Amino acid sequence: MKIVVCVKQVPSSNEVKLDPKTNTIIREADKSVINPYDKFAIEEALKIKDNLKGEVIALSMGIPATEKILRDAMSRGCDRSVLLSDKKFAGADTLATAYTLSLGIKKIKNVSLIICGKMAIDGDTAQIGPELAETLKIPHITDVSEIIKISENEITCRKINDNGYSIIKMVLPAVITVVKDINLPRLPTIPGVLKSIHASFEIINAHNATANINRIGSTGSPTQVIDTFIPERKNVAIEIEGDIDKKIDFIGDIIKEIMYNGRIDN
Ligand SMILES: Cc1cc2nc3c(=O)[nH]c(=O)nc-3n(C[C@H](O)[C@H](O)[C@H](O)COP(=O)(O)OP(=O)(O)OC[C@H]3O[C@@H](n4cnc5c(N)ncnc54)[C@H](O)[C@@H]3O)c2cc1C
Repeated sequence: MKIVVCVKQVPSSNEVKLDPKTNTIIREADKSVINPYDKFAIEEALKIKDNLKGEVIALSMGIPATEKILRDAMSRGCDRSVLLSDKKFAGADTLATAYTLSLGIKKIKNVSLIICGKMAIDGDTAQIGPELAETLKIPHITDVSEIIKISENEITCRKINDNGYSIIKMVLPAVITVVKDINLPRLPTIPGVLKSIHASFEIINAHNATANINRIGSTGSPTQVIDTFIPERKNVAIEIEGDIDKKIDFIGDIIKEIMYNGRIDN
């Protein structure tokens, strides 16, 4: 089974810098990491490969320095990587990003499953998974917390809802987006790191991807960022009520939230 994992380069801290002229994120190679949710996507793909055999390919759209996170993906067990990189892709909104990623998937050929993280911790829209499925005209399930069953032709997933969960079955090829409760990602191994240092990977530009120029980059983006701002930070002290177990759970949840999101949402 051929599985593609979409991995995004995101700033390594929550000190996101914005370009005041373009209202876009300034991406610095040395301060970038794999989007935390995408590590769960990689792990799930590797688990499927362990059972069904096949190939796991990490796919990203980004600047050339995105190579760093693709090597990280390979050190964790991905077999190979594909980078969609071209100045013509710059300024893409989610629709143009999903279209561009779909071109990479078409180039890879015969992909059965595409796994994305639930969301990227910088862009935060959680739109890429569903938009990618729509662009490829294949089904999708978002917020997957468990793959209950998977075969060459279909997949059954547990999807987290606001009020509980749903069990959904769909045919492959398909897209899923995964939440952080789905697994515990394995760490890079020494052989994996060595392999990733010497690995070559495919870089696809707009021409090679046979991209429709009206659907990529800022030209292909129907939305525009009008304004951006960094929220003011306030130090707020809160008193945790309840017994010691409740207090420990509360603090544990805060630590988890910071580890995975780089911030606390509420
Ligand atoms: C109007 C507009 C203009 C923008 N201009 C720019 C710009 O000039 N430069 C810029 O860097 N960003 C720009 N962005 C941000 C960019 O569009 C988003 O970062 C990107 O579309 C992904 O959306 P997201 O971060 O919300 O991902 P989400 O939908 O939250 O991510 C979900 C999952 O999709 C996958 N995914 C997301 N992005 C990628 C990727 N690039 N490669 C591989 N997998 C991915 C990952 O698996 C991720 O976990 C712009 C956004 C908007 C709305």
